[in-house]
Amino acid sequence: LYNMVQDLKGNIRVYCRVRPATSPEAQNAIDFIGEDGSVVVQDPFKPQNDGRRVFRFDRVFGPSATQEEVFKDTQPLIRSVMDGYNVCIFAYGQTGSGKTHTMSGPSSGATKELGINYLALNDLFQLSNKREDLIKYEIHVQMVEIYNEQVRDLLAEDTSTTKYPFSSATLKLEIRSCTNDNGLTLPDARMHYVKCPADVLKLMKLGEVNRAVSSTAINNRSSRSHSILTIHVQGKDVSGSVLRSSLHLVDLAGSERVDKTEVTGDALKEAQYINKSLSCLGDVVAALAQKNSYIPYQNSKLTLLLQNSLGGHAKTLMFAHVSPEGDSFGETVTTLKFAQRVSTV
Ligand code: ADP
Ligand code: MG
Repeated sequence: LYNMVQDLKGNIRVYCRVRPATSPEAQNAIDFIGEDGSVVVQDPFKPQNDGRRVFRFDRVFGPSATQEEVFKDTQPLIRSVMDGYNVCIFAYGQTGSGKTHTMSGPSSGATKELGINYLALNDLFQLSNKREDLIKYEIHVQMVEIYNEQVRDLLAEDTSTTKYPFSSATLKLEIRSCTNDNGLTLPDARMHYVKCPADVLKLMKLGEVNRAVSSTAINNRSSRSHSILTIHVQGKDVSGSVLRSSLHLVDLAGSERVDKTEVTGDALKEAQYINKSLSCLGDVVAALAQKNSYIPYQNSKLTLLLQNSLGGHAKTLMFAHVSPEGDSFGETVTTLKFAQRVSTV
């Protein structure tokens, strides 16, 4: 049922979200946000006809959009996971543009204004209860981080194994190609059974702690890595037949370009890894949007890990996050161009 609505819209969707300005004095670069998904940006430091660009997406959320509004629009897609569809939701954008706000919630860690990660799980539990007489669902979660093309478990209870530099055991989380359809490509990452929202909050805390452990070792690490929360759903109906699917919620590394003349060594390597994996993701989604026969999943850990949930019957949603300030105009245009390329609008 949820799926029928979705099918009409296609399997790849791109939304744009503009976060509120951090200061009322900041020069504004967002000229117009339309009901039809259009967004017009204007370089405030240039004349109108010079610095103006128009983009169109499936939807645009302005600075006043609430977490609930954003979730409501995403809900049918999320619910299709309960009908056996694999779904990927990505948060893309430069550091500070609101990716973590959309996926997890406010950076203060407050429990109001929680993001899609929590709202999605909460909704899946409700749906599971509602369908209890027809289908028995079980929900498990995994959470990993990809940093410099290395995969690390974020839900290991023993944090001594997750400290940077990683012990060899956690470094060696391997992505295995799998032929079964449950999307379980990281068999070595801890799999946690969850049965209520409280379980989820506890795990999200653990994930945050584990992510923070490494960001003190390397400055601002969390914006330099991709974090992937995977929700595995298994449903068994009265006849005993089993359905398996996964929902991947991905908070991507910051997409900002790093000035190669200014960084060296580890920071340069890090920037190159991010650059490569984000452009691989763009290539994969663009190839899917264009219905190409060859999809270059093999070019990054991220796309390899998500291979079973990108393409085929799977559904993809990309949130392109932008900051409204004039100072960010260059990055904003780059982000919107990336998003336009993977869009089918
Ligand atoms: P990113 O993860 O892309 O680096 P954050 O999500 O950390 O960005 O957002 C940067 C700052 O802006 C944070 O303090 C966050 O709480 C705030 N913020 C982002 N988006 C919104 C929003 N839609 N409404 C209110 N505050 C927001
Ligand atoms: Mg973030």
